[in-house]
Amino acid sequence: MKRFAQTINIIDATKLLSYLSQIEVPVMVSAMEIYMLLPKTNCKKCGLPTCMAFAVGLLGREKKVDECPPLIEEKKYEAKLKKLREVMAPIEKASETGLIIHPEKCFGCGNCVVACPVNVAAEPTRTAVGLGPEGEKVILRVEDGVVVVNNLKECKRFGPNKTLCNACTATCPSKAIEFV
Ligand code: SF4
Ligand code: SF4
Ligand code: SF4
Repeated sequence: MKRFAQTINIIDATKLLSYLSQIEVPVMVSAMEIYMLLPKTNCKKCGLPTCMAFAVGLLGREKKVDECPPLIEEKKYEAKLKKLREVMAPIEKASETGLIIHPEKCFGCGNCVVACPVNVAAEPTRTAVGLGPEGEKVILRVEDGVVVVNNLKECKRFGPNKTLCNACTATCPSKAIEFV
């Protein structure tokens, strides 16, 4: 923890911004955004009672775009279908179920800790401004000079509302974090 604090102190804002600019922008699509691209008729042909239920199913990857017959078959939804396929592509690509740390490669710089959007949201007055986290809600923290994973269920890459977040791997200079 001490090593982490020392390192964070020397990360200046320019360096941090440079790291953040390399990050693949997480796709933060919501169920409502997906719903807006559906026919919104609640016809139930997908097997679900409402289009919103289908949107949630798409987000959780329990449903596929092709399971909405009106969207596929009716010409008037062509533009929505195209947009929905674009929006869904990154979600469908996120196929990992875990995150592992290679401790021999980690040197405790803390870049991943301050870049993780869950960490930033959990500690807006600490990780959001480049300081080491103090609470238990964060996913990544540095202990004894090596990053450790906590609360993986909160990771934006996994779980029912996954996105293609890669802020931690993109900001790690030594490839010490791997999605598996
Ligand atoms: S089939 Fe499509 S339009 Fe009908 S309820 Fe399901 S998502 Fe909505
Ligand atoms: S992939 Fe998960 S752990 Fe990594 S930065 Fe995103 S939310 Fe944080
Ligand atoms: S995993 Fe990478 S970015 Fe995170 S503390 Fe270790 S070396 Fe730094």
